[in-house]
Amino acid sequence: MTAGNSLPIFDGHNDSLQSIYLPKTGKARAFFERTAEGHIDLPRMREGGFAGGFFAVFVPSQSSLHGFPGDKPGSRAAVYEIPLPAALDLTYARKIAIRGMACLFRLETESRGQIKVIRTADELSAALEQGVVAAVLHFEGAEAIDPELDALEVFYQAGLRSLGLAWSRPNVFAHGVPFKFPGSPDTGPGLSDAGRQLVKACNRLGILIDLAHITEKGFWDTAGISHAPLIATHAGAHALCPSTRNLTDKQLDAIRETDGIVGVNFHVGFLRKDGRLEPDTPLSEIVRHIDYIARRIGIGHVAFGSDFDGAVMPLDLGDVAGMPKLLDSLRDHGYDEDALRKITHENWIRVLRKTWKR
Ligand SMILES: [Zn+2]
Repeated sequence: MTAGNSLPIFDGHNDSLQSIYLPKTGKARAFFERTAEGHIDLPRMREGGFAGGFFAVFVPSQSSLHGFPGDKPGSRAAVYEIPLPAALDLTYARKIAIRGMACLFRLETESRGQIKVIRTADELSAALEQGVVAAVLHFEGAEAIDPELDALEVFYQAGLRSLGLAWSRPNVFAHGVPFKFPGSPDTGPGLSDAGRQLVKACNRLGILIDLAHITEKGFWDTAGISHAPLIATHAGAHALCPSTRNLTDKQLDAIRETDGIVGVNFHVGFLRKDGRLEPDTPLSEIVRHIDYIARRIGIGHVAFGSDFDGAVMPLDLGDVAGMPKLLDSLRDHGYDEDALRKITHENWIRVLRKTWKR
């Protein structure tokens, strides 16, 4: 048995679907063949022991098909502020979101049983046991959902199990933080009335509410209403890297109090103390964030939230095939197999079971 089989890695965030349904080059990237493009394809997942995770459906701003402004290494100074993009039109957002969902369902079909879009915690556990890649359908931002929440019901029935209330821009429900370094996540308004209704509906349906990207006010508004664990699928510790995208100690404490979880983002700009987009960043920077969060709120509340195919990875990691190197780095820092099981998949399974209620 390889290390990958004994420690299946379940991950809080990837943007891989986008390079297939919105290819930047005009041509979709291969998913079932091993290439050196991007960070994820099925053969590289197998090599890295990547057993599944959240597959994000993202709607880029109409003016640009570049989802994440940080995908050009060296393009940012140490101090930066990227202005918030405008809110999206509902019809446009829904069209792109449906394209993203279709992309995931087509991959599932074409995989002939190698990938499964999972809808319950039991399905997740079974997929991990059987070595089937478990994909959680996640929306990164709620722009494709109408304020009456009709689409939410329909998307839930189709398999939506995780929803970011906002990406880094405003929408009718919530506001996201601009990418800014250094900066506090307290950058703007909290939830609207529609946003509060959305949180309640997600609780009722059992849809995970993802608080990565939301303003600090939005985070606390959600904390005041939601009955579910507080979750940031891909973020880091603000005390170590003062980016707007990272969580303050108070936010981390609230995550612990609700039995929630932080998926640690591997984006170098959210790891490094200096915030620089420097790919030559050691793996120990990821360990530093895991360590800090584990010490502050407990080993049961930290996991991976890579941001593969959406961010700048440390060179030593490279892509998903490099995950065993990160596990070795954690072992070198004193993490035993018990702790590694929690970080790689057990914590996510527990929190998803509690959130989804089935
Ligand atoms: Zn993101």
